[in-house]
Amino acid sequence: MQLQSLWTAVSPELESFANRPLPEHADVVVIGGGYTGLSAALQLAKLGARVTVLERETLGWGASSRNGGMVLTGHKHGVGEMLKEFGAAKTHELWDASLAALDCVADIIQQEKIDCDFARRGHLELAWKEKHLAYLQAAHALLAREFDYPTRLVPKAELRNEIDTTRYYGGMVDERSAGLNPAKYARGLARAAQRAGADLHDGVAAETIEKNARGFNVRTARGAIQTQDVFAATNGYTGAATPQLQKRVIPIGSYIIATEPLDPSLARQLIPHNRMIFDTKNFLYYFRRSPDDRIVFGGRAAFFPETRDTVRESATILRQGMLEIFPQIEDVPTAYAWGGTLGFTFDLFPHAGKMDDMYYAMGYAGHGVALATYLGQQFANRIAGKEWRNPLEGLDFPTMPLYSGNPWFLPFAALYYQFLDWVS
Ligand SMILES: Cc1cc2nc3c(=O)[nH]c(=O)nc-3n(C[C@H](O)[C@H](O)[C@H](O)COP(=O)(O)OP(=O)(O)OC[C@H]3O[C@@H](n4cnc5c(N)ncnc54)[C@H](O)[C@@H]3O)c2cc1C
Repeated sequence: MQLQSLWTAVSPELESFANRPLPEHADVVVIGGGYTGLSAALQLAKLGARVTVLERETLGWGASSRNGGMVLTGHKHGVGEMLKEFGAAKTHELWDASLAALDCVADIIQQEKIDCDFARRGHLELAWKEKHLAYLQAAHALLAREFDYPTRLVPKAELRNEIDTTRYYGGMVDERSAGLNPAKYARGLARAAQRAGADLHDGVAAETIEKNARGFNVRTARGAIQTQDVFAATNGYTGAATPQLQKRVIPIGSYIIATEPLDPSLARQLIPHNRMIFDTKNFLYYFRRSPDDRIVFGGRAAFFPETRDTVRESATILRQGMLEIFPQIEDVPTAYAWGGTLGFTFDLFPHAGKMDDMYYAMGYAGHGVALATYLGQQFANRIAGKEWRNPLEGLDFPTMPLYSGNPWFLPFAALYYQFLDWVS
């Protein structure tokens, strides 16, 4: 078993952007080279701004090349929860933005000719317990009534048409969602941003950011950049360079395994329509077929950010979970295991706006492929003085007393969510 992301392993290498000369001046410095930062850089460069992207590791290194590749409608919170929290107008804005975000990904892939196995095959949400069916039924009815948005309920008796398992009690299909190879997408975005004229850097961390009369001075180990604007796009990897953001983001590990390729007919039997699949647990499983017919199976098997040990332990737990759903593949070995860090927030909503005059977008809570791309693009428009949309504008970005970025409470939260999965 290789301890690395399947997606990175099967994607064409990206050229190195290490050791390039740093400019002394820029219009915008983007901190973080994932979807948020690269999408912003692409759009800013297209709009004629001098944009420099600083990535501490290599471009796409973070969650953007390690995720499940599910480009989903909606947000981490269901529409019912959003209606209760925000009322109808804001929930409509958030829901519409989630659809616009999916279209934004599709448009960029088409315009920039990014070869990343993008396909709109829909997603399937599955009821882990019988009583979870009521949640799916309510979501289906609400989406139809409030948003005129079609989804399809699948009763247990018909579930075989969608997935070859007896483990779940029914599901809901949303045909609009898509899948892609996340590393190919991240690398394609980097190439597109470079073509548009963005100045990209691997291996350069923003260490401190000081405000001054002409904007900001961003210091790195390789020199300082004077810039008019800064856009923080560091999500789950947000650190001490932006302490106000660090104390609002909770880094949480999520882990994935991928099997050896299955016989294509078996793969088609397990997941006939090639949908992106996840279930209704708090400690949810998310899984799909890869383009070469592996089962890619993820979950929050350990809450802590990834180390080689947590990846190994998680691989064992995830394999047990996968075989509980698909005992048919007991003989197929696990080929890859990896983890990545999600950016959670204290209200489980993403947040994007301006803090201490610096722009930021983060906190996607495992639901960020589409939204990160979209917010990156929209913040580029905003910084360049063009028309922009931010569905999260004005939302309070909460923190917790005594929290500065070290999530000491995660073991307790993990126990709490395990308890919730047991009782609810
Ligand atoms: C295992 C896993 C599975 C997931 N599955 C899905 C899924 O199927 N669908 C979905 O929608 N979402 C999923 N997500 C979430 C999604 O991947 C993220 O929301 C998205 O990639 C966030 O992109 P980003 O650019 O904001 O952050 P990232 O891609 O994490 O990039 C942030 C970058 O900032 C860099 N950085 C941090 N500090 C500094 C600094 N001081 N200076 C310079 N660089 C810095 C980091 O090195 C990192 O590369 C998953 C995430 C994980 C971890």
